[in-house]
Amino acid sequence: MDPAVERSGFPGPDAPSPEKIGACVHCGLCLPVCPTYSQTKNEASSPRGRLYLMRAISEERIPLSAAFGNEMYLCLGCRACETACPAGVEFGDLLERSRAQVEEALPRPLASRLSRRAVLQSLVPHRRRLEWVARGTRLFQRLGLGAWLLGSGLLEGRDGLRSAIALIPPAEEIVVGGPGPGVHARRADGDRRVGFFRGCVMDAMLGGTNRRTVGLLRDSGCEVNIPDSQTCCGALHLHSGMREEAKALARRNVKAFASGKDDAVICNSAGCGAALKGYGELLESDEESAGEAKEFAGRVRDISEYLSDLPTRRTPPALRGKAVYQDACHLVHGQRIRSAPRALLDEVPGLTLVPFPESDSCCGSAGIYNISRPSSALEILDRKMEFIAEVDPDFVIAGNPGCQLQLALGVRRRGLRARVLHTVDALSGGGEGAS
Ligand code: SF4
Ligand code: SF4
Repeated sequence: MDPAVERSGFPGPDAPSPEKIGACVHCGLCLPVCPTYSQTKNEASSPRGRLYLMRAISEERIPLSAAFGNEMYLCLGCRACETACPAGVEFGDLLERSRAQVEEALPRPLASRLSRRAVLQSLVPHRRRLEWVARGTRLFQRLGLGAWLLGSGLLEGRDGLRSAIALIPPAEEIVVGGPGPGVHARRADGDRRVGFFRGCVMDAMLGGTNRRTVGLLRDSGCEVNIPDSQTCCGALHLHSGMREEAKALARRNVKAFASGKDDAVICNSAGCGAALKGYGELLESDEESAGEAKEFAGRVRDISEYLSDLPTRRTPPALRGKAVYQDACHLVHGQRIRSAPRALLDEVPGLTLVPFPESDSCCGSAGIYNISRPSSALEILDRKMEFIAEVDPDFVIAGNPGCQLQLALGVRRRGLRARVLHTVDALSGGGEGAS
């Protein structure tokens, strides 16, 4: 065993770094922005409290217990604490590493291990399988089975499943499959060539948004390369403590985009973008891929970041109405992108962007948090929807598919009239939206 690991109370490789944990100066400035601290008022459920626990385990003062595991998974991973932190504590990285240690130290029951493997290893990284699931889901909705199950009482006590079904959009909003692989020619003057990272859920279920993303790029003078060998970004694996599986996916993506011809790799999903930008760190000890991973990570751009940096842009089509913009956590806190999407949306003729309180706090989606911790996620969502209801917007806009689905659930729960759109859809005159 690595001596560094032996000295730590963490049992596995890639343990949270004591130096990074020690960067916390215990000032408490992160506490007011932490949704789980706001809910519980319990120090252990705050960023500072979680860092204390990590440190105590790292220094072998306490064992890695189930209570620690619970705190690591009660955390949303929203990274609002990182933005608030004056000491630059890299909480997201420490959390992901801690979760991997929890998985190593406290093996899950067999049923849980099998279901995680079925979803995260046998489904999510396989585009064709995901598309078949998306088709099945669309049929499920078309036959009214979702609504029937939710009203039947059969899901009593099965809150996670109930929550997963409640999140499924109506059949007409499920668009299976995005733009095909290959090189898509530019439709305006320009000399840029970009790669496009299509994501998994986004491409399989919300494929219309991916097609419009490629359309926006082509209309901005970009040739768009979509390598077929790309796969899932691994964000869900990292959030679930499956670090080795995430690394394997990262290596495949680094290779897929290694042609050297693309100026940038564009992503329209905040969660994927944050994970892709973290590949340099994820693969830093990888002899073969470390250099390429760092170079790749440096080329990744969120679509809003990329478009707002272009010297000239086509005026978007009109979209009439009042809109609120919800900052996806992995865009605003994970990638520090706040003004770019707003600046682009301000250019949409007829669209009025209305600010609302706490637009940069989590909506409760947080990867699969809304399925694994449904009651806590709904409490967080309902608070957000109260603020949104006061604006009574025509559109709720966000730059991440998980947030879109969660906010659409919030709109349905509150009976609001708003349509929920991805930023790209709002810049393209509408799209299917979600309601
Ligand atoms: S990531 Fe979010 S939920 Fe977790 S400690 Fe930080 S602010 Fe709190
Ligand atoms: S804001 Fe940063 S330094 Fe202050 S307690 Fe929170 S994590 Fe520690």
